[in-house]
This record gives sequence, structure tokens and C-alpha cells, in this order.
Amino acid sequence: MAPRTPPDTLADWDRKYLWHPFTQMQEWEQEAPLIIERGKGAYLIDTQGRKYLDGTSSIWVNLHGHRHPTLDRAIKNQLDKIAHSTFLGLSNPPAIQLARELIRIAPKGLKRVFYSDNGSTAVEVALKMAVQYWQQRHPEAGPKHTFLHLKLAYHGDTIGAISVGNIELFHGRFKPLLFPTLDAEPPYCYRCPLALTYPSCHMACLDPIEQLLKTRHREIAGFVIEPLVQAAAGMIMSPPGYLKRIRELCTQYNVLLIADEVATGFGRTGKMFACQHEGVTPDLMAISKGLTGGYMPLAATLTTEAIYSAFLGKYEEFKTFFHGHSYTGNPLGCAVALANLEVFRTEKTLAGLRPKVALLKRLLKPLADLPLVGDIRQRGMMASIELVQNKTTREAIPLQARIGHRVAMEARLRGLLLRPIGNVIVLMPPLSSTRDQLSRMVEILADSIDTCTHPIGAPDAARSPVL
Ligand SMILES: *Cc1c(COP(=O)(O)O)cnc(C)c1O
Repeated sequence: MAPRTPPDTLADWDRKYLWHPFTQMQEWEQEAPLIIERGKGAYLIDTQGRKYLDGTSSIWVNLHGHRHPTLDRAIKNQLDKIAHSTFLGLSNPPAIQLARELIRIAPKGLKRVFYSDNGSTAVEVALKMAVQYWQQRHPEAGPKHTFLHLKLAYHGDTIGAISVGNIELFHGRFKPLLFPTLDAEPPYCYRCPLALTYPSCHMACLDPIEQLLKTRHREIAGFVIEPLVQAAAGMIMSPPGYLKRIRELCTQYNVLLIADEVATGFGRTGKMFACQHEGVTPDLMAISKGLTGGYMPLAATLTTEAIYSAFLGKYEEFKTFFHGHSYTGNPLGCAVALANLEVFRTEKTLAGLRPKVALLKRLLKPLADLPLVGDIRQRGMMASIELVQNKTTREAIPLQARIGHRVAMEARLRGLLLRPIGNVIVLMPPLSSTRDQLSRMVEILADSIDTCTHPIGAPDAARSPVL
């Protein structure tokens, strides 16, 4: 085993050699990096031995906690057989078994599994399958290769995924590289431009989408959507029936429904997949993050027999789906993904979630009284708090004030790790978090927001928002 490098040396090397994702490195270089060395359950432990609650499930991937014995064992057992062999022209037992299990739990009608390595590639695969499907299924219909998606959508960071994404801060500067798409307003109820409330808003939100589909369906290959929760947009939650209606419209107008369940899949919304809340089967479904319980990078794109069969033919017809990655079907990843599904069964994870979801809701409710808290959104174990300048006008806090970041830094001092999205604080605890851990997380969250509202030690008269 390599000798243990002292924490300070690691910190120096990190600042000297690394470039971190979504991180302003100039700032990073000025700070002491938090270096996580180990984990246990809902806790992360750094090189100094300090313990933190993992309030984001290590960016939305972890489900059953860190160092779960079943998951650990699955990797160790597979390692005794083989770490990796290619999936191009070969197969392997865990990948085969996992595909069968995934089809068993997926929305009815999804029949085939295509593996890749991460959420972005799972989305890329879905886009390419959709385009090729229409070329081969209806070659006479003319080009059908445009995608419809919602504004503020996030489907990953590769070029195809950002083409169907729409977060200006992340994607704006790459516009020259992106293919053109059609977009529609998302169901962002808190910032509804018409100030409507559910259910009267339902049609107002869906009518423009129906109009787009009606007039442009001939060129639209697919509608890409994060079902129920637009996560990276700041947990924008669609109203009941919204997804179901989108499914109906896609069927009516002959447009493929591409569900990006990368964030919502594997119990995060309270059911195995978000689509299952509304009895929806998409034509293509991208999964990743929770697929391995947060252990290994693995992803899959699931599809129907109708789409799969459009790729069948004699070799020389060249209907093959020419796409694949070096690590496709990685046995270690598939073995731990199988163990993840086993834990869902043996620990009855989904049934156990119901009381936890209700508890989280009760815990979050009083935070609505804090002066900065504009909106609290929750679906299953995905929750967010949108902080605002003015609760009545809902005026946003300027991004420059970095309120989310400041709250996260306060929470870190108190032993909770968070990763906010602008002014939106995201809380996405591991599904296995205990009641006490959930209570502690929300308690720290409330304290941290409160501290950022009132400068500590300021006399009462001066207790105005520091923004
Ligand atoms: C995280 C995410 C992705 C991208 O997944 P990566 O594994 O980070 O490439 C795609 N879609 C959604 C909805 C996500 O939340």
C-alpha cells in the first residue's frame, strides 16, 4: 500500500495539479480544500478526521449510504473474477443479469438496455437512437431530427446534452457548437409569469407545447424531459398530470418521449422512477447517478422493442447503432448496480421512504418563516429552498451575492455538506438517512440560512438582511 500522504501535502498537491469541475480555481487555490478520505452511512470523513453529513448524496448519486456491506462485497467479489472486458463483440454475466433486472423494474414497455458510462452519454445515446430511428423507420417522412426540450433543462455537459439543455450560465458560451433545438417554458410555478395557480395553470403551461408539437411535429424527433423534477434548474417540480399530458401529446404527434431519469431515478422521488408516478412509459429513458448506488460510473439508455427493431437488418443495410465506449458494460459497475437493486429489495427501501419523505416535509415547513426563504420545493427525497431578496415580490437575490455559497459554507462549519445551485439550496440526503440525521440536516440548514440573514452579534436594530 502507498504510504499515507500527510493532509497538508495533499492540499498543496491538489492546488498545484488539479482542475475541479464547476469550480473557480482562482478562489479554490486561496482556500484549504476539503479532502474526503472515507465515508460511513450518511457521513463523509475528511483527512483531518472531521465528520460531515452528506446532504447532497455526493451530488445525487448515493442511495444506501457509504460503505454499505452488500455493495462493498459485490465489488470485491467481482474483482476476484475480472475487473473489465470489452462489451464490443463480447458479453459478461453481471451486465446480462443487470439488464434483465432493469427491465423488470423499469416502466412497462421498456425492453432493451444500452450501457454507457455517465448521465451525459446516456442522453447522447438517446438522442442518436432517436434520430437514427426516424431515418430507418420512416425514411420517406423527411428529416425528423430536431429536439424539443424545456427551458432551464439540464441533461449533462457533453455537446449533445448541452444542445438540449438550457442553463445560460453553463451553456451560453458554447452556442456556436450546439445544434438548433426548440424549447418551451418550464412549469416553474413559483415564478409563473401569469401568476396562475394549480390547477388553473395546467393548460396555460401545456398549450404552448401542444402548439409547438402541432405545427412542428414533422421535424421533431423527440421531446427530452427531466420527468417531474428539473433538478439542476433548482428543483423545479411539475404539477400533477403534467408529464402524463406530455406523454399523450408525444404519442398524438408521433414524437418520441425521452425521459432523462438520471437525477430522478432509483427512488429519489419516492418511486423507483419518476415516470411511474404518472403511469408513463417513455420511448427512451436515460439512467445513471443512482444506478450503482453511487459507487461506480455506469449509465444506461433503455428503450422499447419498437425502437430496437428499427435497427435490425442485414449487416450491409448498415442499420447498426454505431456507438460504444471503451468501458461499456463494465463488470464492476454492473455488479455493484445489481447489489444496489438487491438492497432495494432486502431493505424495502421504497416502502421505508414514505415516512421519511413525510418527516422531511414536516421538518422543512417551519423554514418558510425565515425572512430569506421564498419557496420550499420537495418531491420524495429531493428538496430545495429558493432564497429571495423579498418574499412578497419574490425579487431574486443577485448571483454576485453568492447567498447559496455562503449558506453552504455556514453549513459546512456545522457539519453538513451542501452544493447549492445559485440561490437555491438543494437538500438531497441519501435514501438511507435516519430520522435523526434528517432532523440534524434541516436544523443545520435553518441555522445556516439564519446566520446569513443576520450578521452574528449584530444588535437587533441592525438585524436587516446583509444583502
Ligand atoms: C447529472 C445529470 C446528468 C448528467 O449526468 P453525468 O453523469 O454528470 O454526466 C444528466 N441529466 C440529469 C437530469 C442530471 O441530473
